[in-house]
Amino acid sequence: MPHNIAISLPEQRPPRAPAHPLRAIDPSAPGLDPVRSLYVHIPFCAHKCHYCDFYSIVDRQDRQRAFAERLEHELDAVSPWAPAPLRTIFVGGGTPTLLRPDLWRSLLAVLDSRYDLSLIHDGSGEFSVECNPETATPELFDVLVEGGVNRISMGAQSFDPRHLKTLERWHDPDNVARAAGLARAAGIDRVSVDLIFAIPGQTLDEWRTDMDTALSLGTEHLSCYALTYEPGTAMTARLNRGDFVRADEDLEADMYELCVDHLSARGFERYEVSNYARPGKECRHNLAYWRQEQWLACGPSASGHVAGWRWKNTPRLDTYLAPSEGGFAPVVDVEEADDRRALAERLLSGLRLREGLDSAMILARAGGIGPQTAGRLETIAGKWEREGRLDPSGGRWVLTDAGILAADRIAADFIAALA
Ligand code: SF4
Repeated sequence: MPHNIAISLPEQRPPRAPAHPLRAIDPSAPGLDPVRSLYVHIPFCAHKCHYCDFYSIVDRQDRQRAFAERLEHELDAVSPWAPAPLRTIFVGGGTPTLLRPDLWRSLLAVLDSRYDLSLIHDGSGEFSVECNPETATPELFDVLVEGGVNRISMGAQSFDPRHLKTLERWHDPDNVARAAGLARAAGIDRVSVDLIFAIPGQTLDEWRTDMDTALSLGTEHLSCYALTYEPGTAMTARLNRGDFVRADEDLEADMYELCVDHLSARGFERYEVSNYARPGKECRHNLAYWRQEQWLACGPSASGHVAGWRWKNTPRLDTYLAPSEGGFAPVVDVEEADDRRALAERLLSGLRLREGLDSAMILARAGGIGPQTAGRLETIAGKWEREGRLDPSGGRWVLTDAGILAADRIAADFIAALA
């Protein structure tokens, strides 16, 4: 065959989608740790909030059943990689509580039949579902509790109608307390609340009031993120049009410090840069991410991590719903196991945790990457220690309060040393 024809052929074909990485991993291979965490993505929302860059589509109720059936096939397909009892399940979105209770019931039955949920059912495992306050009903919570759900993550963002309007977040703030009450009445004691600060026009006092309102609900866990302007969101377009002025950097820093002080004075530890919990009430599923453990991922746009491989399911519902071989989702962004990248990710997420990093473990892994790498990391740790931003005592590299404020910069410094 002439050379030029051989070259032209691939250009005439659509690019081949990468294979699902689990197909390359033998779930019964000796030495392969069983996966103990599962993430499930439900893509439907009632409306698109203006700051949001998560994968979600406005729900018209017409594709919920097709989605749930497709998801059940995928849950079945990936289940062999989780032969041991699951420790954590997190169902996020989107708005998982928008899924109809009858579809939830069927989904939970599939989970129960394909996975070992013994730790979930005896209460030692964690099963979280993200909840939009408007969608909470006694019927839905009864179904969730029956299926083992024992934690709700509530998207409140703010309790001030003016700030909710700025975010184009459509819920009545009074419904947060109502939804938390319904969850507790159904038997779900663990209720986490998500808040956003540095909303345009928000004052320090208003931010304090939002935190106090969340605390008054009896929550044991708070996620508090500064508003970010992600590319392609309506919020960013409005900012660029000059519709509002973003919060001043100093005010944002003051809000962060107020958050740390206010919550710590009320018994909450900042166990991650943006996450606060009463002792023992940390989100174990998110800790599994931040500790770079393994997790399975199902649903459109869900990202998984098994045996060093990473992948993301297709972020398009149409593509996700198309029949696929073996029930696996079409995937994008597949990354093979790579020691250097895995260590970079461990550094990036571990430095954001209050528990920090086991320095001996990090140095041992660095030694496997290159002869000078561990030495370079020690030099960097020493530099940040001298600046009062890193505490290396107790065999761990832990960022100090001053270090937490520069966590990304410090992590970037460590990661550059891996090159
Ligand atoms: S409810 Fe959550 S996932 Fe849905 S659009 Fe709003 S922020 Fe995004």
